[in-house]
Amino acid sequence: MRAIVLGSAAGGAFPQWNCGCPNCVAVRAGRPGFVPRTQDSLAVTASADPTTGRFALVNASPDILTQIQKTPALWPRAPRHSPIAAIVLTNGDMDHVLGLFSLRESYPLALYVTSAVRRGLEESAFIRTLRRFEGQLVIRELVLGERTALADAAGEPLGLTVTPSAMSGKLPVHFVGHAKGAAEDNIALSFTDGAGSLMYAAAGASADVDLGGHDVVLFDGTFYREDELVSLGLSKSYARDMAHVPIGGHSGSLARLAGLAARRIYTHINNTNPILAPDSEERRAVEAAGWEIAYDGMKIVLDAPARGPR
Ligand SMILES: [Zn+2]
Repeated sequence: MRAIVLGSAAGGAFPQWNCGCPNCVAVRAGRPGFVPRTQDSLAVTASADPTTGRFALVNASPDILTQIQKTPALWPRAPRHSPIAAIVLTNGDMDHVLGLFSLRESYPLALYVTSAVRRGLEESAFIRTLRRFEGQLVIRELVLGERTALADAAGEPLGLTVTPSAMSGKLPVHFVGHAKGAAEDNIALSFTDGAGSLMYAAAGASADVDLGGHDVVLFDGTFYREDELVSLGLSKSYARDMAHVPIGGHSGSLARLAGLAARRIYTHINNTNPILAPDSEERRAVEAAGWEIAYDGMKIVLDAPARGPR
């Protein structure tokens, strides 16, 4: 299995268009070590050769066209073709569905969502605009704890399975009023091709989740501190109000996941997070604990199982 991080930032990207926080100022100024990032998305393939493999995308970010353009493995290989065969959504957030509108050029796509997210999308009249012809958008439902073999819109298998598990989250703003909160509103995704396994848990309110048994874990790196936005004077919201467990602190993911035996990578990083600053003590703390920090274009190879104590 191979994965490519298409986008490693939280909603708003890095820099964020209306943000003048120290990180956003530094990355706009081109200060060394500050790297721009697009909004979170991942491409996964069972093929050892990404130039011929077909991909499942995790989430369709508003930056999807830029992400495809920067990723040769996702370029067409015929006059009308895409290596993107399926899209799996972790929730119904605008940051994760808006990209679907950029993939409308009469090309059939398979979309995998939980039934709660499907209801939310269909009741918000969103999906109708993506169904210009019969079979353009084939929606298949994911069930918590059940393994699903991914296939393209025509039913051709990708050689990958995905198993969703509940992560405590928050109902997307555009669902509020016509959808009830449910355990399957926000999910983590475990991918396997039979040899390696990768967990994508990029948004969750708690680090008390079972992440064991994976070779690679990508985890919620949105905020370093609970009061990150408040202390910068940017918002009245704390990390918990936005359903993100911070990295630091005694109940943060750095402490809670210290014993996790897997390659560990923070992603979905908000532009305010001090780990984005190359010389920060927070960056040093994360790296000293053995975590990596995702960047756009990061390639993850899962050929040799790396599981076990390290
Ligand atoms: Zn900022």
